[in-house]
Amino acid sequence: MTIKNVTVAGSGVLGYQIAFQTAFKGFNVTVYDISDEAIEKAKAKFELLSKKYQQDLGATPEELTQTKANLSYSSDLQKATAHADLIIEAVPENLKIKIGFYNELAKVAPKHTIFATNSSTLLPSQIAEATKRPKQFLALHFANEIGTHNTAEIMGHADTDPAIFDQIVRFAEEIGMIALPLHKEQPGYILNTLLVPLLEAATHLLVNEVADAPTIDKTWMVATGAPIGPCGILDIIGITTAYNIIKMTADATKDPEKVKTVEYLKREFLDKNKLGVGTGEGFYTYPNPAFRKENFLK
Ligand code: NAD
Repeated sequence: MTIKNVTVAGSGVLGYQIAFQTAFKGFNVTVYDISDEAIEKAKAKFELLSKKYQQDLGATPEELTQTKANLSYSSDLQKATAHADLIIEAVPENLKIKIGFYNELAKVAPKHTIFATNSSTLLPSQIAEATKRPKQFLALHFANEIGTHNTAEIMGHADTDPAIFDQIVRFAEEIGMIALPLHKEQPGYILNTLLVPLLEAATHLLVNEVADAPTIDKTWMVATGAPIGPCGILDIIGITTAYNIIKMTADATKDPEKVKTVEYLKREFLDKNKLGVGTGEGFYTYPNPAFRKENFLK
């Protein structure tokens, strides 16, 4: 089976980007969401994303006209999936919502359709049973701003058919992603397994007043040759996201170090509206942060 028709379920922050990129690369894409209102919101994002593709990726008006022609929309799950070879699910990051969605999807999707979840924190094995086709189910995980941050982590569960896995690796490449296959399930995939401990270590150093942000970043950048340090990365991700993630663990574990970090981020950043690149200030000020300046590493 070759993949030609793709349905993207959930047209929020990530879902719409996935739909757009897939249509941009020539696939027929149906955007599915729960209500007509949500679908209208998705349609409205077309012009915005088109401009970004023109500016960042040099997309031509012809390519963008074709992208638009490749996109269709529906809030009827049966209609939206009737011809789908692949469904990429990007509904909210909530196990109950995902399971409910797959229960409904399993009833209407064609037998041959492959299901892929874009979940960031759930494992495919937590959802596989609800799909009623575990062999044809796996995770295909994109990063925000997929046009330029074009990673696709592909992660099956124990029962995913290896041929399906390989097909999704090829599909990821066909839609312009750098395909990153994982051989087994791993919470956080590859990227967050590497990144989260680094960011946590940086906040540990800050909160305990071991060193300041520029010194921490300078250490990392000079010693490893990296173009950016952990505090710079936190500014890009957004301090609110980091705060929310650490707060979840702090609330659940009451770990004093995490509680201290949450208080620190709230006091020094959230309360001062210093949320990172998005607000023009976080650990650094933008658009010309100090760590990009020539003398920073001296
Ligand atoms: P979002 O809240 O922006 O969008 C979710 C969309 O799903 C909304 O349009 C909503 O109307 C729709 N929806 C709600 N219930 C639904 C249902 N039952 N059926 C179909 N659609 C439904 O969320 P998001 O940030 O786009 O995240 C979606 C998924 O992508 C999550 O699993 C998340 O972990 C993952 N993800 C997000 C990011 C990110 O940076 N936002 C990055 C990588 C992966």
